[in-house]
Amino acid sequence: CGIIGYVGRRDALDVLVGGLNQLEYRGYDSAGVALANGGDEAAGRDADGAASADVDVVKRAGELSALEAALEERTPAGTTGIGHTRWSTHGPPTDANAHPHTDEDGSVAVVHNGIIENYDRLKDELIAEGHRFESDTDTEVVPHLIERELEAGSPPEAAVRRAVEQLSGSYAIAAVVADTDAVYAARNDSPLVLGIGDDGYYLGSDVPAFLEHTDRVVYLDDGEFVRLTPDGWTVTSPDGEPLDKPIETVDWDL
Ligand code: GLU
Repeated sequence: CGIIGYVGRRDALDVLVGGLNQLEYRGYDSAGVALANGGDEAAGRDADGAASADVDVVKRAGELSALEAALEERTPAGTTGIGHTRWSTHGPPTDANAHPHTDEDGSVAVVHNGIIENYDRLKDELIAEGHRFESDTDTEVVPHLIERELEAGSPPEAAVRRAVEQLSGSYAIAAVVADTDAVYAARNDSPLVLGIGDDGYYLGSDVPAFLEHTDRVVYLDDGEFVRLTPDGWTVTSPDGEPLDKPIETVDWDL
């Protein structure tokens, strides 16, 4: 239903929770966030000091207050993340069905608006390959598809792009990969907009998600693919060509 993403110099959790509050008007039954680059606080360190590659996910069925209470208990750190308010289409509103969804080892997290029409076939295929699913959602195929591409050796951006290419249906999707400071996104038949700020880059299913931070926006079209990093943003066409998208200034108030 609602998507917010952020990468930049700020504490991402504040931006994500603020954005989810602004998206409440769309209606929702669950909410959640994933932070990608919290370092040792979020991900923990192995005995040898290597970062364990986990995206830090907190998600709850119910009102945003339920998510906020869970975030008091465990507060993920980091400057890169995604958040979601869910309006269930596949599977009841439970904690497990709330977004973000992850792959099996928790190194990829995905939020999604819309309906993936071919999820059944993809899910059967992935299960046959040994993937284990934790939710009833259509969405959960996406992190597993990304995981499959990463394991086949694709770098993160290509992995997300190749996963999205396998989907049919309506989607706005945002994904993060553990220990990276990028947010990847794609859309087909579901709105998605970028926000260009002074302190970072924003992604929203709708402008109010980030309007308190910036009024400079880039509207995305179907088939376009986005990468946001602290250093900049790119939008590419379905065949990977960089696009010169105009930045527009919106004159709305929250
Ligand atoms: N189809 C997905 C689900 O049921 C996404 C629903 C939405 O747009 O919030 O989880």
